[in-house]
Amino acid sequence: ETTDITELLLSRIRDVADYPEPGVMFKDITPLLADPAAFAALTDALAEVARDTGATKVVGLEARGFILGAPVALRAGLGFIPVRKAGKLPGATLSQSYDLEYGSAEIEVHAEDLSAGDQVLVVDDVLATGGTAEASLELIRRAGAEVAGLAVLMELGFLGGRARLEPALAGAPLRAL
Ligand code: AMP
Repeated sequence: ETTDITELLLSRIRDVADYPEPGVMFKDITPLLADPAAFAALTDALAEVARDTGATKVVGLEARGFILGAPVALRAGLGFIPVRKAGKLPGATLSQSYDLEYGSAEIEVHAEDLSAGDQVLVVDDVLATGGTAEASLELIRRAGAEVAGLAVLMELGFLGGRARLEPALAGAPLRAL
């Protein structure tokens, strides 16, 4: 149960300096996705978080949160719900705007996908400033559902995302593998 997968996962994440812009160290997970043992270990670990938190649904954040969240949902026996960038979902949506360093962004979810009584685990690859995750937690609550937790592969601790998310998490766990 306590198998240490940290080394395996770390060895499959590629640091790309100055991408997509100068000063950013991009965490590229494509080597991890291409390695079936590492991908399976990650999926299992995140599915365990889903079980631990009592989640009844998994939300994935576009786009890498889709790649990780969908197999986690399947593994945990839960439904998967995409939170997309604005303008991509055809049905009735709830939208949430949030501030970026320059400008703002907007994410959406199909309103009918979430309802009262749902316990939602949010999955993404990287927690950076926490702005995207914060907006997704807001969406979930506005849809009437509850936040079971937030699970990410990596947390860039120096950006302070965890502290920023404290109010939005309201006691729900943030797990970074
Ligand atoms: P943030 O809203 O600042 O927490 O940014 C989180 C989103 O941006 C996630 O969906 C990540 O996939 C992506 N992201 C931010 N910083 C990085 C990074 N250094 N490497 C890879 N992805 C990142």
